[in-house]
Amino acid sequence: MKLKKPTKVCKLCFKEIDDNLLFNLTHPSVDVCPWCYKEIKPHFFKFKVLGYNAISIYRYDEKIQALLYQFKGCFDFELLNIFFERFSRELSLRYRDYVLVPVPSYKEDDDIREFNHVEEMFKILNLPMRKMIVKTKRIKQATSSAKRRKAIKDCLEHTGNSDLSKYKILLVDDVHTTGSTLKACIHLIEKLHPKKIEVLVMAKTDDI
Ligand SMILES: [Zn+2]
Repeated sequence: MKLKKPTKVCKLCFKEIDDNLLFNLTHPSVDVCPWCYKEIKPHFFKFKVLGYNAISIYRYDEKIQALLYQFKGCFDFELLNIFFERFSRELSLRYRDYVLVPVPSYKEDDDIREFNHVEEMFKILNLPMRKMIVKTKRIKQATSSAKRRKAIKDCLEHTGNSDLSKYKILLVDDVHTTGSTLKACIHLIEKLHPKKIEVLVMAKTDDI
């Protein structure tokens, strides 16, 4: 007797996904149809943050913004693998000897969501992860960028007093806009003398 799996429904257009599609075999952890999936176009971009190599996978356009909101803001956990699934093998290989350090959210926000979206979306890379930076308060609105940088610096701290001299660190985040938070995290990590630091973000705004 053949076992029949229930038909999957696309998380984005809500149409049923034909069981016979090869796409189901090649993308087992993605709950969207091939047509919606094709619409989420990667746009690899290499840039530097404080002189360190950084890569973003998507342009932070309306589509990605909406998807991220659906995943993060509406707690739509089934969208978890949509961002990295198709590159997970390549990225795992590229960063195989790195330890991931997620840019933190404020803990109370994670508690409300019951998950940390950055940690969850990067889990598919199957690399060791160290949650060594914590955000101790919400960042206050600041009038100037200097005040904002100071506010960010004041609410981030690293936990423990670990020496990172044996490790290569891959700092990961969802969206890169001004880069202030990433820079503040890099400053904290630099103090622990890792062998190397690189940055990987899911999406980046165009203008910076
Ligand atoms: Zn669809």
